[in-house]
Order: sequence, then C-alpha cells, then structure tokens
Amino acid sequence: MTQNSTPTPAQVIRELQEGHQRFQQAESIHPHATEARLHELEQGQAPHAAVLTCSDSRVAVELIFDSGFGDLFVIRNAGNSSTPGTLASVEYAVEALQVPVVLVMSHVGCGAVGAACTPEHLLTPTLMDHVGHIRNGLKGAGLTFEPASDLVHAYALHAEVTARELINSSVLLRERIKGGQLEVHAACFELHNLGINWLGVQHGA
Ligand SMILES: [Zn+2]
Repeated sequence: MTQNSTPTPAQVIRELQEGHQRFQQAESIHPHATEARLHELEQGQAPHAAVLTCSDSRVAVELIFDSGFGDLFVIRNAGNSSTPGTLASVEYAVEALQVPVVLVMSHVGCGAVGAACTPEHLLTPTLMDHVGHIRNGLKGAGLTFEPASDLVHAYALHAEVTARELINSSVLLRERIKGGQLEVHAACFELHNLGINWLGVQHGA
C-alpha cells in the first residue's frame, strides 16, 4: 500500500480482498510487519481503511487481511456495535486520516449477536444495554428471532445494521459518501472456513 496518494474506494476494497485471499489460501506475506516500517510511519499514518469489527479474539483483523503497521485503522468492541465512541473513531478516520473505505465486519458465532437473539442470558446492566441495542437494530431490520435459521442470518445482518446506523448518525459520512470520496461496506467473517461474506456498499436510512 502506498502512502502518497489516496486510493479510490474500489482500489481499497480490492486490496482488502486480495489480502484476505492470501490469508485464506495460507499464502500470507505479512507485509509491513518490520521495525523499519514503523519508523517510516513515525511522522504520521495514512491507513487505507477503517475497520469496525468485534473484540472477539478470533477476529484478528491484520492477520485476516494480511496487512501490517499503518494499513488499517481498527475499531473494535463486543459485537462491533455503533456507539458514540465507535462513531467518533470512524469520523476521525474519515476526517483526519481521509480513509476512503469504512468496513463494518461482523462474524459468525458472535457472542454479542447471539446474546441479542436470546436475551434471557444473565448479563450486567451495561451489557444488557449494549446487547439490547444490537437486538433493537436487528428487530428494526425485520429479524423475528425465530430459532436457528434467524441466528445464522443475524450475524451478517448485524454488520449491515451497524453500517446503516453509522451513516444515519453522521453528517460527515453522508457528505463524503455523496461526494464519492467514501464507501461504507459491510461484511461477515466466517470462522469455519476463514471466508468473508462481502455484503457490499451500504447506504443510510
Ligand atoms: Zn463477536
């Protein structure tokens, strides 16, 4: 990834897909992983994408996209939910770092999405609030919380819901999308086969 010019959203999505393909095919080259690379970045960073994903220890973003220091601006919380802190971080990446792509990536087997679908699990008040937000988003997107089949659907759907919430909550994101400088994409990482279900460009409202 070059640091000199801002790539187009399409170029960045291709970079992410190519990196992921290397990872999935066990052909990772682990770029930008040296001390020298970090020294190059001492004066500043110019990541190509902001990635909002789950804190789940299995969703190791730099490994999944075969990337390294300075490549991705990563935001994580349990269930890759849209929160004020999340949105502020995304807006920083778009405004200050000029990233042309925001990727919201959920994952199959997500504990937070699972809890949102079966809220009888005992949680702390804070967790109940966090998970309740995920549940409301899924409900608003038409999920009926019927067993099994809906849960499989929920993992991917949640990435789309979060992407839409970010767009709907941010004048900055809407302006950049309208101007063609930014695309917000959703995707779902599939632990069982290391695949990514690319869900495409997301729009608000
Ligand atoms: Zn998760």
